[in-house]
Amino acid sequence: MPECIVCKENYEVGQPCKRCGSDNNGWEEWKREEKALGPKRALLRFLEPYFGLPLMIAGWALAFGLMGIIWPWGGVKIYVCILAVALTFVGCVLTVPAVYEKRFSLREQELLRRVKRGRAKGLGVGTRVLIVSVVTLGLIILLMLLLVQSEAVWKLMEWLMLEDTTTVEGSSPPQEELGFKDKIRRAFPLACLGGYITLVAFAYSSSLMLGQAYAKRLSEEVPPPIFLQERLLVKIVRREAERVVCRPITQKVTDDEKAPNGDEKAPDETEQEPRSWTWDEMERTDDGGIRLKAIVKAPSEAGKSSIEWAEDIIYVVEADPWSRITKVGRVKGT
Ligand SMILES: [Zn+2]
Repeated sequence: MPECIVCKENYEVGQPCKRCGSDNNGWEEWKREEKALGPKRALLRFLEPYFGLPLMIAGWALAFGLMGIIWPWGGVKIYVCILAVALTFVGCVLTVPAVYEKRFSLREQELLRRVKRGRAKGLGVGTRVLIVSVVTLGLIILLMLLLVQSEAVWKLMEWLMLEDTTTVEGSSPPQEELGFKDKIRRAFPLACLGGYITLVAFAYSSSLMLGQAYAKRLSEEVPPPIFLQERLLVKIVRREAERVVCRPITQKVTDDEKAPNGDEKAPDETEQEPRSWTWDEMERTDDGGIRLKAIVKAPSEAGKSSIEWAEDIIYVVEADPWSRITKVGRVKGT
């Protein structure tokens, strides 16, 4: 059975959700349309905003990579260059299906950030894109600094990635004899190669932006999740809490109660005494859920016969952002 786009409860196609009453027709239509398009065309539609930027970056990666082998990566071992081009190109392309696969959970996470607080809020897509870009540029600068400042790093990279430049006269001059400009010139091909590989990070950032655009389009067609519909969220959590707390007591069937033919009788369900609920306080939790406080008037043992409410019980009910109860705590009686 499909899952309600509002509360995640299973629902019957064509029927409103039994739990939250939401109409899932827009959601059904969206899935039907995506299925009719087929995986390839659906992916192409996902790529439409920003002119398919991640694939454009993959194309640039391939073109720049082929050019880079000639210049500016002169001196870098050819198999290193080919490996870098292949991995960067494939990495850029793969960011698209990776984000597409997560498109629905990305939308949920983004919408949840509107009601989350503190650390639970996490980072938005815009911030993640910015961080990826800044970290990427930082890594290029760090690589360049290491290659210029540290002879050990340079020797290691030279051994791993550079063609053997030893001439008949001897090896390349030692570090002390090189000026700052010479060191930069020497490190330039490797720094360019490092910078080139980070194109994958930019492709990933742009794929996240596509995911954000997809979420926006979907949100125009379907009702918002229940954590953004506070009145509905409160209504359902109250109903579920009353049901949980006033659940009928199921009596166990003992051997003596078995029917003469050996069949077990259906367990007896004894309704609890009716209770009066007064919902007192409501607050949102850091994770986007809800916490409700209820004063429940239950008949005391002594008052059962005289229709007299004698006991107040305070319940604190917590539910997750999808209105599923996670905790019912009995605070105290008065
Ligand atoms: Zn629902």
